Amino acid sequence: MRIAVGQLKQESNHFNPKLCELEHFEANGVLYGDDVLEGFGPNTELGGAIGELRQHGAQLVPLLLARSVSYGPLTPECFAHLADELVTRLERAGDVDGVYISFHGAMAVTDDDDPEGTVLERVRAVVGPDVPIASSYDLHAHMSPKICRNATIVEGYRTYPHDDGFETGARAASFLVRAVRGEITPKLSITRMNMLVPGTNQQTTYGPAALLWFQAKAAIAKGDVLSASIFCGHSKLDVPEHGFAVVTLTDDDAATGAKLGEAIAAKAWDIRDEFAVQCVPPDEAIERALAVDRGPVVLVDLGDVPGGGSTGDSNALLAAMLRGGVDRLKEPSQVSIVDPAVVERCHEAGVGAELTVDIGCSMQPSLGDPISVTGVVTTLHDGRFVYAMGNLAGSPGSMGRCAVLKIGAIHVLVSTYPSYEYADEQYRAVGLDMDRCRITVARAGMNFKLAFQCRARHTILVDSPGPTAVDLTRLPFERVTRPTYPFDPIDAPTIRTETP
Ligand SMILES: [Zn+2]
Repeated sequence: MRIAVGQLKQESNHFNPKLCELEHFEANGVLYGDDVLEGFGPNTELGGAIGELRQHGAQLVPLLLARSVSYGPLTPECFAHLADELVTRLERAGDVDGVYISFHGAMAVTDDDDPEGTVLERVRAVVGPDVPIASSYDLHAHMSPKICRNATIVEGYRTYPHDDGFETGARAASFLVRAVRGEITPKLSITRMNMLVPGTNQQTTYGPAALLWFQAKAAIAKGDVLSASIFCGHSKLDVPEHGFAVVTLTDDDAATGAKLGEAIAAKAWDIRDEFAVQCVPPDEAIERALAVDRGPVVLVDLGDVPGGGSTGDSNALLAAMLRGGVDRLKEPSQVSIVDPAVVERCHEAGVGAELTVDIGCSMQPSLGDPISVTGVVTTLHDGRFVYAMGNLAGSPGSMGRCAVLKIGAIHVLVSTYPSYEYADEQYRAVGLDMDRCRITVARAGMNFKLAFQCRARHTILVDSPGPTAVDLTRLPFERVTRPTYPFDPIDAPTIRTETP
């Protein structure tokens, strides 16, 4: 059994004005051919799929591994390079019995709203109509009929914060093996609804999304469907027909899957208002943080979350900390910010140097003006670290060259690139410790619940400006099909189901 495997994964944010280039993928290491089998990451979906396929004695045909931090849409050149690599390597591989590809599902290219669908269409054209193609997705995928027409198997994460990449890849590969052996006849159904909700309250252990997952898991446990994936959508993708989706996988019984998808969509509509996020403006957040008698207090900068595709260069929280006198406290505090020019200045000046720099909003001027600060360079670092939690646990990460600039009691971690925050790996890499800090700023719209919140005495969600703002009506959506909740008053949703 020859199975081709690959990964092409990025989550785009149309409100990030910066485009995603090959360098953003290369910052995490793009691997070609056999190298994929060396660097897939133990806890990732590719790790799960490869492990499962090996257990079944499959001969692996590695194609490409490319993953970038969430960012703006890809340039056509970047997408063409990566997609061509994946597809031409598959062509050159000769006959295969199956294909597995790991996607995020919310990737966008400046000239293609559904690049995953495009890749799958090209893969389908190479292998023909009869070879099963399994694919896996983040729970925030923009699920499309084109994906479901070309893929045989669609599997999404079932956890948020995401911690089941391995299991998701393993599940997709397991169904793939059963399909290759003729043990099942996979049939997908896709149900879509014109509703878009912010990510922060989509946790799968309690709250509205958990209620939907109970429904899906009950159906899986009863054996009604082989699998069900709920995609609440990536609320920072401005593309037509974007919204809530459920994809079910059955053994030749798409009608039962479709019924489940529609029932879950109807329930999601009933509880749509429960996805709203309660948060406070930056200055009020600082006031509340200082009212807590001791740390650690975590402030979550919801507007500028790299994991949601933002640039991480907003200085809104740093400015509020300075206005609130956090720099004059006895205990240290810490905040991170992406500013490549300031990193260079710090590296030129060296440890111990005092610098006055304009910091912040260097990549997204629409977020505000840089602020002038004076601090001492305390640390210089190459920006490499290893993820400790979540899907990337054990995988290398990079924030590019970085430095710590100490402004009074505030340690500012300045980096060259934005990076996913699963826990406080970035701070720890440069010797900072949230347990000793009065205030720590996290730029993680959901993952703060994994490590930061567990260790904090108090967590405050901040309604800060930026491309990942949780009030979707404040973001400049232009292309989402209308009417869509929450942008328009809608009495009843439009729920559409297809069984490709
Ligand atoms: Zn996600």
